[in-house]
Amino acid sequence: MTSNAPLIDTVYHDLALRTLEVIRVTRVTPRLVRVTLGGPELAGFIDRAPADHVKAFFPAPGELEPVLPLLGDDDEGLIFPDVPPFPISRDYTTRRFDPVAGELDLDFVLHGSGVASVWAAQAAPGQKLGLAGPRGSVMVPLEFDWYLLASDETGLPGLSRYLEILPEGAIAKVFILVDDAGEEHHLETKADAAITWVHRDGLAHGEGDLLHRAISALEFPPGRPYVWITGEAGELKPIRRHLRAAGFDRDYTDVDGYWKRGTVNLDHHLADDDEEEPGADAASWPASSRRGGQGSSPHL
Ligand SMILES: Cc1cc2nc3c(=O)[nH]c(=O)nc-3n(C[C@H](O)[C@H](O)[C@H](O)COP(=O)(O)OP(=O)(O)OC[C@H]3O[C@@H](n4cnc5c(N)ncnc54)[C@H](O)[C@@H]3O)c2cc1C
Repeated sequence: MTSNAPLIDTVYHDLALRTLEVIRVTRVTPRLVRVTLGGPELAGFIDRAPADHVKAFFPAPGELEPVLPLLGDDDEGLIFPDVPPFPISRDYTTRRFDPVAGELDLDFVLHGSGVASVWAAQAAPGQKLGLAGPRGSVMVPLEFDWYLLASDETGLPGLSRYLEILPEGAIAKVFILVDDAGEEHHLETKADAAITWVHRDGLAHGEGDLLHRAISALEFPPGRPYVWITGEAGELKPIRRHLRAAGFDRDYTDVDGYWKRGTVNLDHHLADDDEEEPGADAASWPASSRRGGQGSSPHL
């Protein structure tokens, strides 16, 4: 890294547990539900960066209140019980936080099964959802020559937030994987963003290499890029290989599996099996960490 290289900083926040109330439910598209949360416990919530995320805690089937873990001292973090009732949690991105209105939006992909997806499909005002975090914010300085942003629907909240904060004139190449044209919707940006919606057209989620093919066909603009790509862990592997072969700087390349086909509640802090290469030297890309050398994702 040269001395004028951008510095990506991770700012940590005190961990807090909250029980919030559903204020509103909005269907953004047929497969995307926006749940607006509020209530007195939202006071003090911190949200600073596009990829900020929380652990959402869901009521067990038939229950009204979510079971929460305990909050440990300082570095202890969340303490989960050894005996039932067990907290049921999944990771979600903070799509929008408005401290004045006292509102927090989470966008849920409806994918058919899974506690979170099933809960979002029936969510209604007055229901309760638990929340922990965000644990921290990865602060990416907006001084790169261009941005490569790509995701399936699960990363769309973070990707949309990146587009919203990119300054006028910033060059962004954007690829979004969705089921079909019915999932496309307006994304706000001042940037010079070329947005490509990639359609599965009947292919199951996590199947195929459509995002990889779309990114492979891209002619990279000149200069230093920042890369943020999320989606199904298996679909990201060829993309990671492609960027590595093209010489992308690992410090500025964040390729993060947000879910994995057949896995319940993927821990995205576990390295994918293609991230650690035997015999790789320290300067090679990617390293053993989930993301590049800078701005590690805060662990909840
Ligand atoms: C940092 C982070 C931020 C995230 N932000 C968001 C967000 O803002 N919005 C969002 O919708 N998701 C987001 N995700 C992904 C979300 O946490 C997972 O998709 C989660 O597994 C969903 O929980 P579930 O209870 O519905 O399914 P699970 O019980 O975890 O899984 C049940 C089955 O469904 C499959 N599955 C899980 N997700 C999908 C999917 N999207 N499509 C098809 N099959 C799936 C699993 O492979 C498994 O077979 C984020 C993940 C991370 C790590």
